[in-house]
Amino acid sequence: MRDLSADTRLLSLNAATVRKRWNLSEIIDGCARHQIGGIAPWRDQIADCGLDKAGRQIRDAGLRVSGVCRGGMFPGRDAASRKANIDDNIRAIDEAVALDAECLVLVVGGLAEGSKDLAAARAQVEDGIAAVLEYAKINAMPLAIEPLHPMYAADRACVNTLHHALDICDRLGSGIGVAVDVYHVWWDPELEAQIARAGANGQLLAFHVCDWLVPTTDMLTDRGMMGDGVIEISKIRGWVEAAGFDGQCEVEIFSAENWWKKDPDEVLKTCIARHQSVV
Ligand code: ZN
Repeated sequence: MRDLSADTRLLSLNAATVRKRWNLSEIIDGCARHQIGGIAPWRDQIADCGLDKAGRQIRDAGLRVSGVCRGGMFPGRDAASRKANIDDNIRAIDEAVALDAECLVLVVGGLAEGSKDLAAARAQVEDGIAAVLEYAKINAMPLAIEPLHPMYAADRACVNTLHHALDICDRLGSGIGVAVDVYHVWWDPELEAQIARAGANGQLLAFHVCDWLVPTTDMLTDRGMMGDGVIEISKIRGWVEAAGFDGQCEVEIFSAENWWKKDPDEVLKTCIARHQSVV
């Protein structure tokens, strides 16, 4: 395993982690100030900042872009809405290319509005990815399916295990892989085996870290800082690195009642300290 004990360059900050108190420009400056090696911006933050300005500032700061969040959300109740979702994913690919991102993260979407047909949603996800994959490949932008915890199957992502995500990747061919987010997959008894499977096929595109708090008080915005919960993060990092992953560890924390309320400079210092001691 790589030694992170004095590292900041293999740390990437998912820009959601400090989004409540800093805009993207301030987050980029903060990463540079703390010598954090990478950033993963969200598309609404990119839009607010302006794509050109964001790209310039990220390059000037010497940051890698470990991923752009996010494409996906493919299911729709009719053909027109599904087409609109595909068009939006094309724009997301363009933005990721403009930022020299290492991948575009796909949160694939849940049930279509008014539908209970989970199988149909999953089919629409696969069709949607297939519809944008060629464009992504022409533009050399890897697509990273991020399986989400099953509690989000209805409204955010109906792909909930690495096994399922990798089956989709295998059916669709090259240019696509997975983002392994410990928060979403830590519970999976197949995790180690599926990480090895992804690595063997060059499909490990991103590694996201935070922690699972006990109790968890909100399904979306109560993620923990690494070390404050029950996930064996360094064990999972060992698995992804043994499988060949050599990218950054992206810290992604949604925390309405705790970290989002704190001074962002203190949050970044804590991220670095936990990256070096826990991840
Ligand atoms: Zn993630």
